[in-house]
Amino acid sequence: ASAVRSFNELIAKHAGAQPDSNATIFNGRKTSYGELDKISNRFANALLDANIRKGTRVGILAKNSDTYLQLLFACAKVGAVTVGLNWRLAPAELSYIAKDSDMELLFVGAEFFDTAEIVSAAAPKLKHIVSLNNAYQQWPAIADWTSDDDKLPSIAVSPDDAALQLYTSGTTGHPKGVVLAHKTFFDPWIYDADPLMAWNDISQDEVCLLAMPFFHVGGIGLCFMSLRAGCSAVIVPEFSPMEFLRLVPEYKVTRTFLVPAAIRTVLLLPAAATTDWSSLKLVIYGAAPMPEALLLEALKILKCDFTQLYGMTEVCGAVVHLPPQDHIEGSPRLRAAGIPIPSTRIKIIDGAGQLVKQGEVGEILLSSPAAMHSYWKNADATTKTLVDGYIHTGDAGYQDEDGYLYIFDRVKDMIISGGENIYPIEVENALYHHADISDVAVIGIPDEKWGELVAAVVVVNAGCTPTESELIDYAKAQIASYKCPKKIIFTEELPRNASGKILKRELRKPFWESLERKI
Ligand code: ATP
Ligand code: MG
Repeated sequence: ASAVRSFNELIAKHAGAQPDSNATIFNGRKTSYGELDKISNRFANALLDANIRKGTRVGILAKNSDTYLQLLFACAKVGAVTVGLNWRLAPAELSYIAKDSDMELLFVGAEFFDTAEIVSAAAPKLKHIVSLNNAYQQWPAIADWTSDDDKLPSIAVSPDDAALQLYTSGTTGHPKGVVLAHKTFFDPWIYDADPLMAWNDISQDEVCLLAMPFFHVGGIGLCFMSLRAGCSAVIVPEFSPMEFLRLVPEYKVTRTFLVPAAIRTVLLLPAAATTDWSSLKLVIYGAAPMPEALLLEALKILKCDFTQLYGMTEVCGAVVHLPPQDHIEGSPRLRAAGIPIPSTRIKIIDGAGQLVKQGEVGEILLSSPAAMHSYWKNADATTKTLVDGYIHTGDAGYQDEDGYLYIFDRVKDMIISGGENIYPIEVENALYHHADISDVAVIGIPDEKWGELVAAVVVVNAGCTPTESELIDYAKAQIASYKCPKKIIFTEELPRNASGKILKRELRKPFWESLERKI
């Protein structure tokens, strides 16, 4: 049989070979692969009735559910492109995306009706809104909207056609629409059937917990890890550490993906120490820097294999992985993001665009069969990002002699103080080990003498009162003095986006606003 390279081929394969085996579990409701195929056919026929055609953009503004995936497959069956909307964004930001994407139909969950009203006023091409729950004003309930016809519409959809349009997390500016073809979810796994990659040995009888949002490439990418293997996926509407604690033993979850911020909230629960984690084989983490101290704690408590992934929306998720065998306490590799998967090529360049010497820090460039063709309607950003087949990541890092990639920071987050380049992550790692510190972000703030000054924004554990000089001295004991914070800013909580990434531009804003730089 030829390899599966599209959503449609995937569903056809499992519905044919194992129609009765379970595809998804949501709030206790089980759906088999055969049912997933039939339900998505009914939705696909309803899409055609609503005049949704190949290439039409269809938005989903809802928390994760089994219906979400059924709609994703339905859109794929008619060649429509699903736009997963980040419901944590403000109405104005969602309006920007709804308009930018040219969406013609929007599926909306009941908790977002108010937002959908605002969004619909801003999106001139939007013709239909369908409620994922009960009918609301003129918006029909999905149960009444779906078609009775459960046959597959005969529309030719190829692996090169667009399947999803995902917006970047908006960590460095406005979110950008990344157009991803069907094949980007499959080709790397065909080229990279490398047993080294911890998720390749997944078997059909396993259970994956999908706890990260489907609108983000990490959340939806890991959903395809489950679906490609034909195993069961337990879906939660949104991540909750309490639910995580409950669901892992209940469903004997074997694999999951969590961003570091989510792992942190799990480990903060006292019950994490007594939960039965024995079913877990693999925890995949990534999408944001993982503090080493947090990783060590997670290894001790969850006692399973860990794999780190590094990647981005522009390459449909992960292109670099740190396998379980590199997760050994004391190993310098615990600070690495990992090695490129076989189909990925990496270059590291300096500010002048020249390749750096091995071991030197520069901007990371990636070439991957999963790379996007372009940003949606943003030729300017596309020409800047995709140059000669390489994605310019905007991330700084270096590769060691064995090819391990160490991510430093966003190029934009680098601090230049007294002419020295300082990468916040090194300073953050040094402080994170302090017993009183629960969370930390290091930023550069303007300074007349040094250009920029290293400042640490710190959240302390309840009841702890470390002083500024105590924390600065703690850092000095571990890293070169010029890298150490000169200022400590205590705060209650760090601003994060939906992907759990610290929004450094928000932290920098009060200091840089008047200078109009660095935000
Ligand atoms: P925007 O492009 O809109 O500014 P974003 O880059 O955060 O937002 P995503 O595509 O969701 O949007 O995230 C990709 C980025 O996440 C990478 O460029 C990198 O900075 C960060 N990242 C991903 N994986 C890791 C990892 N394992 N370690 C450190 N950083 C990571
Ligand atoms: Mg980005």
